[in-house]
Amino acid sequence: MKEFDIKIFGIVQGVGFRPFIKNLADKFKISGNVANKGSYVEIFAAGESKILKNFVDAIPKKAPARSAILKIDVTEIEFEKKFSGFEIVESKHETGDIFVSPDIAICEKCREELFNPNDRRYLHPFINCTACGPRLTILKNMPYDRERTSMGDFPMCEKCSEEYHNPISRRYDAQPVCCNDCGPEVYIFGKNIRGAAAIKFARKILAGGGIVAVKGIGGFHLACDAKNFSAVERLRKNKIRPTKPFAVMFRNIDALKNECDFSPEVYKILESPQKPIVLLPKKSGGKIAGNVAPEINKLGTFLPYTPLHLLLFDYPDEIENFPDALVMTSGNPSGVPISIEDEDAQKNFGDFCDAIISHNRKILLRADDSVTDFFAGELSMIRRSRGYAPLPIFVNAKSGKNILAVGGELKNTFCLAKNNLLYASPYIGDMTDLRTVEVLKNSINRMKDLLEIEPEVVACDFHPRYHTTEFAESLNLPVVKIQHHYAHILTVLAENNFFGEVVGISFDGTGYGDDGTIWGGEIFVCDSKNYRRVGHISKFSQAGGDKSSREGWRIALSLMKNFPDIRSISEKLNLATPAEISGQLFLLKKNLNCIDSTSCGRIFDAVSAILGICKNSTYEGEAAMKLQTVAENFAGNLAGNFDFEIGEDLILPTDKLFEKILIDRLNGENIYKLARFFHAGLAGMIANACEKISRIENIKTVALGGGVFQNSLLAGLTIENLQKRGLKVLRNKTIPPNDGGICIGQAFRLFD
Ligand code: ZN
Ligand code: ZN
Ligand code: FE
Repeated sequence: MKEFDIKIFGIVQGVGFRPFIKNLADKFKISGNVANKGSYVEIFAAGESKILKNFVDAIPKKAPARSAILKIDVTEIEFEKKFSGFEIVESKHETGDIFVSPDIAICEKCREELFNPNDRRYLHPFINCTACGPRLTILKNMPYDRERTSMGDFPMCEKCSEEYHNPISRRYDAQPVCCNDCGPEVYIFGKNIRGAAAIKFARKILAGGGIVAVKGIGGFHLACDAKNFSAVERLRKNKIRPTKPFAVMFRNIDALKNECDFSPEVYKILESPQKPIVLLPKKSGGKIAGNVAPEINKLGTFLPYTPLHLLLFDYPDEIENFPDALVMTSGNPSGVPISIEDEDAQKNFGDFCDAIISHNRKILLRADDSVTDFFAGELSMIRRSRGYAPLPIFVNAKSGKNILAVGGELKNTFCLAKNNLLYASPYIGDMTDLRTVEVLKNSINRMKDLLEIEPEVVACDFHPRYHTTEFAESLNLPVVKIQHHYAHILTVLAENNFFGEVVGISFDGTGYGDDGTIWGGEIFVCDSKNYRRVGHISKFSQAGGDKSSREGWRIALSLMKNFPDIRSISEKLNLATPAEISGQLFLLKKNLNCIDSTSCGRIFDAVSAILGICKNSTYEGEAAMKLQTVAENFAGNLAGNFDFEIGEDLILPTDKLFEKILIDRLNGENIYKLARFFHAGLAGMIANACEKISRIENIKTVALGGGVFQNSLLAGLTIENLQKRGLKVLRNKTIPPNDGGICIGQAFRLFD
């Protein structure tokens, strides 16, 4: 007889791992025990040597679907005959690398039980099991035990407790287990309507074209019938969100098939335990209201991921023709973090919602829906949050210190890192609003507790006026400031676990450059430690402060500097009112409120403006997204010369590209073709520059980072061009290339 001490690292908590081990041990007739240690699961197993080996081999092969084993350490210890049978023992906490499971969408078995009239959890809005349900958002501390979750408020009834303690039950050791007798309850806020009546009440309003706020896993959604134009319009007016696309939750995959095209790979993502929002090409003839995602080819789509969502769509009541597609948008004023409490929901949207359907299970940490695009056969994450955060990224490097990276100003996320792990937080929001800064602080504290990482050093952006920079400086820790666009490339390096030198193409909105000018179209030669800015797009004057980031026509005027008749061209293209044009020209002429800029995002805005596609953006990236849409809708062939030469100075002639487009536009060329030409021209320039640098510097790898590469058309064309030139391309896939990903790059810079 022998005894093994087996330590298992990875996502092994909150996924039914201990019951799985117990069942497996019983099958092998092994005695011993299993415990959650906080950062790992530890097994003491006694038995015949050969049987023990087979047992260890079987662990990774048969592990629960939602677990992820990263490492198994086995040590043989002295055998003492101390076990009788195999048991799950009380968690004893130890420190170490911690893996917290993200929230998991309702599983197929729970879904069946939910709609089975003979099941005791029939229509129970909180049904869950060992394989599904909330995790991160209800967790106070590790290890993952009921009393350390917000389900601690709901003592289990006898029947639930029996399942919870029975090793052959699907709910053995499932911390949020509950039922109609003992679980949380849904209700209509401010009204005495509870349980089933509350669901029916909300359904009636939605079916009648009303707006309902729905408390979900990681926060509130605002919902309305996605096929009802006036309902969507009313939501837009009240949310003060004139055109930014809304995501749509479909009743099921068949309802989605009627509206969008998708491949089997995408089907897997839509039905995955993460259930993110996936951007899918709209089908022609779809019935989704035109104002849900106006002037964009794609629609953000997802499937119900909580029992409450399923009940809203399919509760067996007298309501017929319930919508099979609901707009489900984050319940928050634009830029402010998603509401998680009733009072906050009431304050933020109580005056225009026809009902708020809530429940008494507390959300301890916000988690917005994750958003992903899909191209070149792979994910292209746009917002990494629910279902993904806080799973860490592993790198083959170590940090000697505990790191906090506070991220950027827009689309903020933060990162905690230690050893060889980087944990990015769920989505926080835009730091320009001070309420978001508060949420950032609270969320950092929560995650610090959860992951047991007490920061010893803090990384932030180089921008002196970012709220995140100010916050980093207030922490009484050593602060390291990292240039924004270099951080974007570092994020690519970290995600790809790459430590060599690369040509870094960081194309982005605006960020603070080392020389105090605005950067955002940068070419670096860099690795994980150092960078050199070797080139950039052609410089222009960004005049008009903040407005110049939203109003592309202002940038267009700067780029017209070589045209003698700017005023008449601007008026011809109807770029703005004559007074606005005069004002802007005055600023440019007197060099007032002007900053030199190499922001690539602004070039997209300017081109979008002169093509008459979008002159003023009402949300970040609007002009660029619409320009991309127009380019994608170009059906013809792109002939002609768009191979722009790159000079010794390695400056990309984006000014020449703009001028050519302007001249063609004034000559009446079709805007679809010009939009496409812009993308192709830019991709060609990038590839030419990279080829040149790769020869000079003898570097064979290019890293593409920054929000501009969220544009799948540009990214696709650029990758194609680079590969044709024999260069290897690294890009972000599971981490957003936009500012939602820079916390990872910031933290990665501080690794040893
Ligand atoms: Zn389940
Ligand atoms: Zn119960
Ligand atoms: Fe950025």
